[in-house]
Amino acid sequence: ALFPIGPTAPRGYAAGSPERTSTAKALDDIRAAGCDVPNLIGGGVVRTGRLMPVVTPHEHAYRLGQVHRAGQEETIRAIEAATAASAWWGRLPWEDRAAPFLRAADMLEHGPWRDRLNAATMLELSKTTYQADIDAACETVDFIRANVKNMLDMYDVQPGSLPGMWNQAEYRPLEGFVFAVTPFNFTCMNNLAFAPAVLGNTVVWKPAESASLVAHMSMELLREAGLPDGVINVVYGDGPEIGAVALGHRDLAAVHFTGSTATFQHIWHTVGANVASYRNYPRLIGETGGKDFILAHPSADLDALAVACVRGAYEYQGQKCSAASRLYAPRSLWPALKERLIALTESVVVGDPTDPETFVGAVINARQHAKHAEALARARAEKLVVVGGRTDDSLGWFVDPTVLEVDDPTSPFMTQELFAPVLTTYVYDDSAWAQVLRLVDESTSYGLTGAVFAADPAAVMQAEHALRYTAGNFYVNDKPTGSVVGQQPFGGARASGTNDKAGTVWNLIRFSSPRSIKRNH
Ligand code: GLU
Repeated sequence: ALFPIGPTAPRGYAAGSPERTSTAKALDDIRAAGCDVPNLIGGGVVRTGRLMPVVTPHEHAYRLGQVHRAGQEETIRAIEAATAASAWWGRLPWEDRAAPFLRAADMLEHGPWRDRLNAATMLELSKTTYQADIDAACETVDFIRANVKNMLDMYDVQPGSLPGMWNQAEYRPLEGFVFAVTPFNFTCMNNLAFAPAVLGNTVVWKPAESASLVAHMSMELLREAGLPDGVINVVYGDGPEIGAVALGHRDLAAVHFTGSTATFQHIWHTVGANVASYRNYPRLIGETGGKDFILAHPSADLDALAVACVRGAYEYQGQKCSAASRLYAPRSLWPALKERLIALTESVVVGDPTDPETFVGAVINARQHAKHAEALARARAEKLVVVGGRTDDSLGWFVDPTVLEVDDPTSPFMTQELFAPVLTTYVYDDSAWAQVLRLVDESTSYGLTGAVFAADPAAVMQAEHALRYTAGNFYVNDKPTGSVVGQQPFGGARASGTNDKAGTVWNLIRFSSPRSIKRNH
C-alpha cells in the first residue's frame, strides 16, 4: 500500500464545496478579465507601452495579459516618489502605518481576495491549489501580522535610565529608500517590500518578471486596504537595467533581496564599487540559493522518510529554495526506500495545477525548462535515472518528478542547484556515518536547509553538531521545506544568504537605524 504523500488541495476543498466553487470562479474571472499591469509610482499608474506577456507556465501558449516594463526614467521617478514619501510616512505613529497592512491581512484571510490572489498564484506561478493557499494567503497573512508584532517587540527594547536622566532608543526607519527585489517562487515573498514599509521605510520594489501579476494584485489589495501613495513603488521589467539605477543612487538605504546567488553577488560588487557615493552604507539583506539535503541514518523510519523525500523534492516542482535535492541513503535501507520512492513518484499527478488532484505543475519558464531538459538528458545518458527523467514542453513546461542515483558524491547532480523536481541519491555504507556527515557538509557552498532522519538520538546529536553551519533551517525527522512564520524562522548562511531570517525581529532590525537620545532633567 502507498502512504499518503500529503495534500494537493486545502482542507474543505471537496467537489461542490463553497471553497472549490469560489476558487473556480476566481480563476475564470482572471482568465476572462485578462490583465494589463502598469508600474506604480507615487500612487500613479505608469504605462510605458514596452510590453512583456504574462504567461501561464502549464499552458504556455495562453496569455493572461501583459506587463509594462520600466526603464531608467521610471526607476528614477520611483526613487523620487519613495524619498518624497519618506518625509512623512516614517513620522506617522506606528498604528497608522500598521493599519493598512493589518486590514489587508484580514481582507486576505476572510474575503474574496483570498481566492483572487490564490488564483493568480496558480495561473502565473503554476502552483497547485494547496501550494497557492499556503503561500499567497496563509504565509502572506502570517508575515504581515508578524511584522507588526516584531516591530512592537523591537520598540520595547530600551536602554536603562537613571534618576535625572532618561535614555531612549528611537527606532528610526533608514534614511533613503529600500530596494526590494522579489523572486518568482513565493507570492508571500512580497513581504520583502512590506516588512521595511511597516517600519516607516519607503520602498522601490522590483518583482521577478515571471511574478508580475501577483505583485500587482498584492498592491491592489494594499491600496484598497488604505496604504498611502508613494510608500511602496513598483517597477517591472529588466533586473540589470532597473538595478543599475537603484544601486547607483546616493539614497539607497538597503537592498532586501531573494533570488540567485549570482545576482546577489553582483549586487555586493556594485554596492562595493559605489560605496563612496552613498549617503549611508546600504544594508544588504539577501536569501539566495540552496542545495538542500536529506540525510537518512540506518535507524530512520522508512515510511516517513519516503514521504519527506517526495514532498520535499517535488512540491512546487522543486522550485522552493528549501527543496530537497540531494539524498544520502544508507545501503541497508536503500532497496526498500527505492521501492517506495518509485511507487510514490509514479503516483504523483503532474499537470494543470488548478485541478485539485494535481501535485506537480509546470516549471516557471522556457529557460528553466531547457536547462532541466538538458540536465535530465545527461542523467539518462549516464544511466542515473531511478524513476522519471523526462521533460515535455509541448503544452506547458513540464518536468517529470525524478529520482537519480549517482556513484560519485561529487557529481554535479549532488552539488549544483537545479530548481526542478529532481532528487539525486548517493548510497553510503552503513559503517561510513562519520564520513557521510563530512560529505554532506563539504559537498556544496550553500547553507540553507537540510533534514536528518534517524530514530537513534545519538545519531541526531552527531548530525546536529557535524552539520552546524550546513543548514540555517535544520529538520529532524521532517522534510526540509515548509517553514512556518513564527515557528521555524527561515534563512541560511554561507552562499545561501545573510541569514537575516524572514519574518523575525532579527530581519526587521536591519531596516531600522536607531538613535540614542539622552535627556537630562
Ligand atoms: N520558506 C520556504 C520553505 O520553508 C522557502 C522559501 C524560499 O524558497 O525562498 O519552504
